[in-house]
Amino acid sequence: MELTQEFRTFLHNFIESLPYGVMILDKHGAVLDFNRNISLVFGLPGVDGGKVHYSQILEPKIKTLFDQIIQEVTSTGFVMGKEALVTLGSEVQLALALSASRFLETDPARQDVIIICREMTARQELDRLRELERLKTEFISSITHDLKAPLTSVIGYADLLMDTAREKLDKDETDYVGIIKQEGMRLSRMINDILNVAKIDSGKLALKAELTNIKEIVDEVLKIAQGQGQHFTFTVQVAESLPPLWLDKELMTRVIMNLVSNAIKYSPHAGQITICAYQKDADVCVDVIDQGMGMSEESLNHLFEKFFRVRTDATKGIAGTGLGLVITKGFIEAHGGTIKVASVLGKGSTFSVVLPLRLSEHKPES
Ligand code: ADP
Repeated sequence: MELTQEFRTFLHNFIESLPYGVMILDKHGAVLDFNRNISLVFGLPGVDGGKVHYSQILEPKIKTLFDQIIQEVTSTGFVMGKEALVTLGSEVQLALALSASRFLETDPARQDVIIICREMTARQELDRLRELERLKTEFISSITHDLKAPLTSVIGYADLLMDTAREKLDKDETDYVGIIKQEGMRLSRMINDILNVAKIDSGKLALKAELTNIKEIVDEVLKIAQGQGQHFTFTVQVAESLPPLWLDKELMTRVIMNLVSNAIKYSPHAGQITICAYQKDADVCVDVIDQGMGMSEESLNHLFEKFFRVRTDATKGIAGTGLGLVITKGFIEAHGGTIKVASVLGKGSTFSVVLPLRLSEHKPES
């Protein structure tokens, strides 16, 4: 079958519009058409209508590559992602992936071949970024482990000093030891946060799921929270009908504790903190509602980014790392859930932990 001029023009315009290099050859290797992209990559001369064999216009190294590709297409029908490094001019190197297949396969009389050539820079860059991410996670894990050991000694010896030498220390000295312990504990929390983020990022968070009543978690959090926020009124509503869920109890307790601690931290005028747990369609939700400083729309957009903290006069002096919500979200997502936030500046915020109800029957995948 001869291709009509109209079809040839359509085909040429089509391959010209593709973001790849394209060349079409007939069964004898004569060049039927190619686009500007491939001619730029291989520095091809213009071919004006007359049939030219690909070997006449490609430089020897590329010609050999084409020979292999065509041989493979002839026997198997296609070639996928053959990689090649091409030097442009005297120094620019281009990583290419070439694919080929029979073109117009429906016509047995024709054995045309279409060769498509993609630049691999984007893929290589992606591989490089993945490798950097892996090295970063490894580095963070090892350095934070190394930091933990001496810190445990600092905290331990500060405790020992307090217990054994208290009567020998004057008031200032007792305060100093107290500060060493307090700051040591703060550093330890920061290290744990960084370790947790590294675990979440690398997908190495292992869940120890057990059938857990949300009520138990809420009660435990409430006990600690009442100590932290003595000026607050706490209200708890847990639906009686909630089934127990397969949860990592320790991690989920930390999730709710983080949210309640934030509610306390970011409510300078105290007020009411409500924790509600209920079923909504195919989800179990736990809401933590405060009447604190709230957040702007703009802040909400960045809330789950690492190290993000709202920086206003109101938040000045409130300690934190900006990792708490990243970890909270990571722990919830590891259970197949999501976290939602609604907030009004100056009025308060509602953080909702949304867990799939199927956790009542199935363990989370980990
Ligand atoms: P941290 O509290 O350590 O700064 P988080 O990741 O827990 O880090 O929170 C990030 C930021 O989100 C906080 O610095 C704060 O500005 C804001 N934020 C979190 N929870 C609340 C809340 N309940 N009310 C108002 N702002 C909040």
